[in-house]
Amino acid sequence: MIQDIAPKKFYNQYRDEKCTAQDKVLIYDGRNVLLKRENNTRLVIPTYKEAETLMCVKKSEEYEEKNKEAIYLFAIDDTKYFLLNNQNINADKNTKWHYATVNETRQLLKKEDAMATATGLHLSTWYSVNQYCGSCGTKTVHDKVQRMLYCPKCHNMIFPRIAPAVIVALTHNDRIMLTKYAGREYTRYALIAGFNEIGETIEETVRREVMEEVGMNIKNIRYYKSQPWGIAGDLLMGFFAELDEELSDGIIHLDEEELSYASWMTREEVPDYKEGLSLTHEMMMVFKNEK
Ligand SMILES: [Zn+2]
Repeated sequence: MIQDIAPKKFYNQYRDEKCTAQDKVLIYDGRNVLLKRENNTRLVIPTYKEAETLMCVKKSEEYEEKNKEAIYLFAIDDTKYFLLNNQNINADKNTKWHYATVNETRQLLKKEDAMATATGLHLSTWYSVNQYCGSCGTKTVHDKVQRMLYCPKCHNMIFPRIAPAVIVALTHNDRIMLTKYAGREYTRYALIAGFNEIGETIEETVRREVMEEVGMNIKNIRYYKSQPWGIAGDLLMGFFAELDEELSDGIIHLDEEELSYASWMTREEVPDYKEGLSLTHEMMMVFKNEK
């Protein structure tokens, strides 16, 4: 999965650090991230020094100013990553540089860099939408000790927001329920999934999502693993569950708002996308390879 980067280690604690020339910088344009092309093929996250060549301002005192705006994000082993949005960067005319989509980063980057760009996107979005206090509208200030923005006027404290969501591998004897999302860029088979809503337990989310998406009652809910999914700002929690035959006949009542397709599939029919990043895929493979 995206977080499985061992023996490398991910350190998410906030530190009050200044960006130096050799640190890596994540620069987002909407949901796309600026990457550097190496040897005409491989995409890598640039260092500050490399990205600086694209900045339109070069005078030394202004360099200092720009550098100060870099926000410390996290580290992977000894490599530090900084967020460098709102820069006057011109990458359009330089073929060495490329704003990569989320899907491209999943395919082209080393796993730790895929983890870094996804988690960076989560934080970048959070910083971007919290520049002003949601309570009184005053410009927020960065705390120096922890990852927190606060309002100097009304003292509102804002912490990163993580949305809990479930992925459900629903099985019935030797079959598993595979689905396809309606109206999304992602067109591969997926599992039943959805967000936890206010006031419900995560087990209730599992039951509700299965009922909403395919209209079935379930039993034997078992927790599998979780996954940080910064691309959507989520924490995904994976569960296996079985059809409750006493309450449901297994006939699919499709929620056409959410899904374009759902079907019971055998182990042989479950596709192997040879993809090592998502919890969904790992759970599909666990079922497929079960004896
Ligand atoms: Zn305020």
